[in-house]
Order: sequence, then C-alpha cells, then structure tokens
Amino acid sequence: MRNNRAQDLRKSFIDSLEEDIRDFLINEAELHTYDDLTKVNPVTPSTVLKCLQARYSAKVFYTHAGCTLVALNPFQPIPHLYSLDVMREYHAAPQPQEFKPHIFIVAEEAYRNVQGQVEPMNQSLVVSGESGAGKTWTSRCLMKYYATVAASSQKCQDTVEKIERRVLGSNPIMEAFGNACTLRNSNSSRFGKYIQLQLNGSQLLVGASVQTYLLEKTRVAFQAPNERNFHIFYQMMKGATEKQRLEWMLPLDQDFAWLPHAEKTLEGKYCTSRMLACVDYCSLSLSSFCAGFLQKTADLLQVPLDELQSCLTVRTLHAGKQNVLKPCSQSECSVRRDCLAKVIYAQLFDWLVTFINNSMCADSSMWCNFIGLLDVYGFECFLLNNLEQLCINYANEKLQQHFVAHYLKAQQEEYVTEGLQWSFIRYQDNQGCLDLIEGSPSSIFSLLNEDCRLNRASDAKQFCVRLQKELSHNASISWDKFSKQPHFTVAHYADKVSYQIEGMMEKNKDPVPPELISLLQNSQDSLLHSLFADGDHESEGLRGHSKVVTVVSKFRNSLESLMKILHSTTPHYTRCIKPNPDCRPLTFKREEVIAQLEACGIVETINISAAGFPIRIPYGNFLQRYGLITNTRLTAQMNTPLSPTGPEMSNQAVLGSAVEDVLNVVLKRRAPNSTLSPDDNNN
Ligand code: ADP
Ligand code: MG
Repeated sequence: MRNNRAQDLRKSFIDSLEEDIRDFLINEAELHTYDDLTKVNPVTPSTVLKCLQARYSAKVFYTHAGCTLVALNPFQPIPHLYSLDVMREYHAAPQPQEFKPHIFIVAEEAYRNVQGQVEPMNQSLVVSGESGAGKTWTSRCLMKYYATVAASSQKCQDTVEKIERRVLGSNPIMEAFGNACTLRNSNSSRFGKYIQLQLNGSQLLVGASVQTYLLEKTRVAFQAPNERNFHIFYQMMKGATEKQRLEWMLPLDQDFAWLPHAEKTLEGKYCTSRMLACVDYCSLSLSSFCAGFLQKTADLLQVPLDELQSCLTVRTLHAGKQNVLKPCSQSECSVRRDCLAKVIYAQLFDWLVTFINNSMCADSSMWCNFIGLLDVYGFECFLLNNLEQLCINYANEKLQQHFVAHYLKAQQEEYVTEGLQWSFIRYQDNQGCLDLIEGSPSSIFSLLNEDCRLNRASDAKQFCVRLQKELSHNASISWDKFSKQPHFTVAHYADKVSYQIEGMMEKNKDPVPPELISLLQNSQDSLLHSLFADGDHESEGLRGHSKVVTVVSKFRNSLESLMKILHSTTPHYTRCIKPNPDCRPLTFKREEVIAQLEACGIVETINISAAGFPIRIPYGNFLQRYGLITNTRLTAQMNTPLSPTGPEMSNQAVLGSAVEDVLNVVLKRRAPNSTLSPDDNNN
C-alpha cells in the first residue's frame, strides 16, 4: 500500500517533470526567432509545426532544418526578398550562414563548395515538395542567383546573346510545353527536370544542360475535370496572328475538346505550332469525320488523307506471311487517335529539350564542374492512383533513401567531432518498399514487365492474384479485403497509397500501333518526318518481344542514372511546403502543413535526430534543474557555479555520470515490467 502511494507520487512527479522539461525548453514567444528547427527542443512534429507557424505569421519563409532548408510558400510576391541586391549581399558575405535563412544561403554554399577545399566537387540542389509548394519557383530563383553571381562574358557560339540569358530563357519555353493548370497549381510542372549549370575553372557559368523525366503526355488527350491541357495550346490559340490562324486552320471560336477552360489563356507564339495544331485537330477528327476535320489533320500532318483514315480505323494483323486487315471498334479508334496525339507531343517535347540543350550546352572542354538543380514532382496520393503515381512515388522513395543516407552520414560526422560514443541508430529504412517496387527477382515492376514481355491479355484481377502470390511476404504491400476493385496498397515512407490495377499494365506497355509510326515517318513535313525518321521510338511492331522497353523500365533506368549523378555530388536539400491547399496568400493551415512535413520527410529527419540525441542541453543546466531526483551528494556538486562556457573537462565526466543517474531513474520508469524498489523512492 505504502509502496503504491509512493509510486503514484513518484509517477505524478515524473509526469510533471516531463511537462516541465517541455516548458523549460519551448519558449513560445520566441519560437519565430528560431532559425533552425533543430534548436527547437524537444524536436517533435508539434513543436516544429508551432515554430514554422510562428515564423510564417512573422513573414519569415525560410527555416533551416539541420542540413535541409524548409521553404514556406508565401503565395504572394515578397518585395525585395529576391532582389539583385540581396543576391549580392549573400554572395559577398564572409559567412552567409550567419544571415537570415534564405534559399540564397543554400545557393551560395553550393557555389563555394564547387571549388572545394581539397578538390572541386560537383553539387546538387534537390528541391522537393508537393504540387504548388514552390519547387519550380525555387529552382528559378536558384538559376537567377547563379546567372547573377556567376555571370560570365561568355557569348553563345552563333549569337551575341549571353549564356545566362539563354539558360534563363529556356524556362518559359519548357514551362509552356511541360506545365499546365491543375487543381493544385495553376502552373503545375508535368515533368521532372534536372538542370546542370556548367561552370568553368573561374566558377563562371558557361553553359547548361537539362534532362527531363516522365512527361505526363496523357494530359494531351485527357484532362481531369477543371484541369487544363499544356499551356502552349492556349498560348497558341490566343497569340496566333490572323495569317498564322489561317495557316494552322485555327478557327477563332472553335471548341477543341482537349482544350478546356480556354478563356484564361496566356500570350505566346512558337515555331512548332503547325504540329500542335495537328494535335488539336486530333481531338476533333474522329468525332467529326464528315466535317472535314480529318482532312485538315491530314493537311497539317502532310500525310495522305486515306492513309491517315486507315491508320486510325483499321488494324493490320500479321498472320504468317499474310497481313489481315481488321476494322477497329469505335473505342479502339479513339485509343488510336489519342495515341497519335500523345506520340507526336512526346516526340516534340523531346525534340525541344534536345534543341534547348544544343543551344545552351557548353563544349566539354570549356567547363569543369556543375551545380545541378533537381525539380521533380512531389509525392502524390489521389483518390485514384495508377502507374503515373506509382512512378512518381517510386522516384520520391529513391530520393528519400538518398536523403536519409546523406543525412545520417552528416549526423555521424557531427557526433565524431563532438567526441561522442553512440550506438547507431534505428531509423526508418525504406529499402523494403524499394525492393517491393523495383527489386529482383520479384517486384511490382518485374511483374508488370513480365506481363508485357509475355504479351498477356491485361487482366487486372489475374494480375492482382499474381501480386499476392509473389509479393505478400513484403511488409510494405497490403490489400483491402473489402475493396471491389483490383488494387494494391503500398506503405510509402510518406503515406499509404492504394493503386488501382485496371489500366496499369496497358499504361506500362504504352503501345503505339506500327501503322501510326510508319504514317508519321512518311510525312512530307520536315520536322515531323525528322521526329520519327530515326526509328528510335518504340511501337508495338518495332519492339521485339525479347527486348520490350516498358514505361517503368525506361523510368527506372533514367532514375538510376540520376541517382548515380546525385551520389557523385554533394547534395543540398530544400523542402518546399504549401501552407494551404487553395494557394491563398499568407494562410497557414496546420493540418496541411503537418501532413507535408511528414510526406516530405521532415518528420523522418526529426526521427533520425530523435534516434540520436534529440535534446541537447548542457550537462550543467540539466543537473541544475533535474538533479534533485537523484541523491544529495550530486545535487551539492551541481550547486557549484558553472562557467558560462560550460564546465571544465574534468568536471564534465562527473557531471556526465550524474546526468546518467537522472536519466536512469526516468528510463526505469519507462521500461516495461520495471518495478521500483523502495530504495528508489528515497528522493
Ligand atoms: P511547384 O513547382 O512546387 O508545383 P510552383 O513553384 O509552381 O510550385 O509554385 C506555385 C506558385 O506559388 C507559384 O506560381 C507562385 O505564385 C507561388 N510561389 C511559390 N514560391 C513562392 C515564393 N517564394 N514567393 C512568392 N510566391 C511563390
Ligand atoms: Mg513545378
């Protein structure tokens, strides 16, 4: 009985002590002044959230989080935050880290690192975050920064234009072709990109190259309700002169089925417009054969009308040495029409990227190092998720793995410099999830590819059964027993996502009817002809079954080479956060932000810190406050005044063991099945 009462008293004492620790550590009035989230003690999702909210309210948008930078989107222009003067200030500062947190600190650190103390080291700036969080904005800021501080007098070979202008000028073009208005962001990037800014031995910008990833080409033929097609179509409709309109057969008030919400158009004109007009016309041609749209499409594509019609409506089957012609059903015709538009657009986009690279890439003899900027789509979880989301989330898993490996390394180095002994660290490793998605011998990707290789008729239910048979040993996959649709759920590091299987295998195969390819190869239009002339692109017919290149294989390969580059560079992570879903200025929604902190791995970073040393209080301060729960001898020792810089080393060891005593008392209480001996209750 007596023991019970003592235990109760003791429990309530330690409870209040825990509260006390929190109050002691968090000073709410000062939260907005914490430039680095690792200074918030204790580091928990809720204290981090409070700190970010306090800073957002104080209109402070950047905060360090250990080796990463958190950028909150203000959703309104912030005067002077990115001016040339501010760039020059950060660039000229002997210690930019001592300035207020800013994306320019990251930029400058990378810039200084390039030269390296021992040997030059390439750098990568990885910008992540959900759609609308500010990744592309941040990448643009970084490009402007380097175009300013690393400006050279270098001219492009064939013009007097400066290279910085070309590099910056590539942005609006790529955004016109690769961005679209979505529910989440009116200028949402529908592709990933990695830009390498090439620097010469004097650290001057002499060129750049860009690599793109997984353009969402399905958008050409399908847009979710209240979303739009790629900007370029609207820009063309709006910006065309009367003459161009005639040439491209663009009627003024024609409703193109694939161009919803055209009233909000922007200005712009581009030389590839004829091809885009073709794509527009594809949306009309099948539904209105008689209205002459097919003829217009054929004219624009510069192919014979009858061949176009037959490609869209008749399928050629190979039976032995004979070809058999089989009319397509209406839905097959629609698939072919969509396919025609998508394949033209995708080839055109690649052509554009090559064109841009040719015009801004420096000769390899002219540059020696690069700073890479990575702007990829963030983690996605919609009501319906399919192959696109699987690829995007897989990319994010890869980046998270890279981040965790890098972050842990940085922490270990810190512990070494502090002379600390630690047994390292249980953190959430996402290898299991990556094995599930891409591993061998069996994974989601391998099974998808097998389906494609064996040319199985895509049956979602059968595929689901195969997944269950081959992969249910992996803890990262599960199935909802009550769901009627064939699906699987992956526990990503950020969240669980359910993927519908229907359509997934077909999307992975991404078949292009061979008739369409040969039609386009025979076009009289020189650009269109050149897009398809080299036979590089795959079509059903051109693919040998033994070496089918599927969407996931292609994506995996391109990601693999990206990861190789990232591993060979020093990375710098910036996590962009979207403070509210409606893109409203200066509005901070706690539940939105906490979800993103989790999804973009900040909470993971915190967990990693927590597995190491989450709370960092000097021994002396700690004992002054909590020493009373151990014995009096040590309490007396504590009362000796402590020098402001902390105790001497000899003292340190004694104080360290006193700290251990205090912690042991607390830990004992936490250990399961631990019983307190009466002796423990002396204090
Ligand atoms: P993401 O690329 O992550 O999808 P964006 O970079 O396109 O997002 O940003 C969405 C919008 O948010 C931008 O168009 C811009 O209006 C606004 N925005 C983003 N970052 C900032 C910033 N630092 N200052 C002001 N506005 C910003
Ligand atoms: Mg973007």
